[in-house]
Amino acid sequence: MGKSHRVLASHALDTLLAALRDDGYRCVGPQLRDGAIVFDTLHHAADLPWGWQDEQAPGHYRLQHADPSRAFAWANGPQAIKPLTFAPRETLWESRIEADGRMQFTATLPAEEKVAVIGARACDLAALRLQDQHFLEGAHADPYYAARRRNLFIVAVHCTAPAATCFCASTGDGPLCTAGFDLALHETDEGYLVDAGSEAGTAMIASLSLPAATATRVEQAETAVAAAGERQTRGLPSRNLRDLLFANLDHPQWDDVAARCLSCGNCTAVCPTCFCHAEHDVPLLDANLGRHEREWDSCFTEGHSYLAGIVIRSDTRLRYRQWLTHKLGGWHDQYGRSGCTGCGRCITWCPVGIDLTEEVARIHATGGGHD
Ligand code: SF4
Ligand code: SF4
Repeated sequence: MGKSHRVLASHALDTLLAALRDDGYRCVGPQLRDGAIVFDTLHHAADLPWGWQDEQAPGHYRLQHADPSRAFAWANGPQAIKPLTFAPRETLWESRIEADGRMQFTATLPAEEKVAVIGARACDLAALRLQDQHFLEGAHADPYYAARRRNLFIVAVHCTAPAATCFCASTGDGPLCTAGFDLALHETDEGYLVDAGSEAGTAMIASLSLPAATATRVEQAETAVAAAGERQTRGLPSRNLRDLLFANLDHPQWDDVAARCLSCGNCTAVCPTCFCHAEHDVPLLDANLGRHEREWDSCFTEGHSYLAGIVIRSDTRLRYRQWLTHKLGGWHDQYGRSGCTGCGRCITWCPVGIDLTEEVARIHATGGGHD
């Protein structure tokens, strides 16, 4: 597998979608909605965001016209793969009081559905790997996540158009997709180069009878992706900031950022690796019935640190500090690496433009960081 690129003409993207549908997959791909590029059921390649590019900056996201021959000339939208595997809200179980007074509990696992995701980026593949670690590889695998995850087919697209907020090259997660996909596409002036990353991807390529790509075309495509990484200007000073952050829990920068942060939780909602959630019982009119739901939560909410009558993180300073020290520090202890894949979404979608790379740079510069 890998390095056996085939050529798929631009007009043949529909052939790929049809082949996926024939295999039982619902295709989900990037499309324009409300001024952003978001994932939705993809019926035709014509529905892809042809000729659109995203302009991103701290607290800023706009779409603008670009090369009409490109469907993937943008970096990313507010979603990653996360909502497709870790549902923003779902019922975990339902309860019923039977006539004899006994209580019955029924797990409400999601219906099995094969989903093919078109257009995943390298940063999102790295985030999916981290979510797999969290939801599938701990002591208690999450059956709701597992039911969605095992039926995913991923068609990644190497990124050649990073936004100003991207820093996947700095975290080592992109822009080239190296693992975690079934198929990966290079978008070029002469169509797509397709490579397989799994047996399912290899079988899909074989079924399409695609011609082999020349080594020169592959090299040109990979050079364009490498150049995209070199154009990224943001970055973190190190891939392991655990010791720096834990040594600076009283750094004045936490007060500085707290004065700007709204505690809105946007950053955690768009982050492809954040997995915090809350569970609650939903009151129903029929007192014999009950429903237990899970929904995304955030370390920026008051309820998330409510423990035994006390809100542990009672102010924004403590909440932002929790987010950043866990994301860039505690994850090393839990998952063996940072929880940031450099997608830049938390920078773009923060309403006041807080940029974690700048916050870290200030702590690094004055808190004893080493280059
Ligand atoms: S912390 Fe920000 S840049 Fe890093 S993965 Fe999450 S949203 Fe992306
Ligand atoms: S850092 Fe920005 S997005 Fe995150 S909670 Fe604060 S204001 Fe909201």
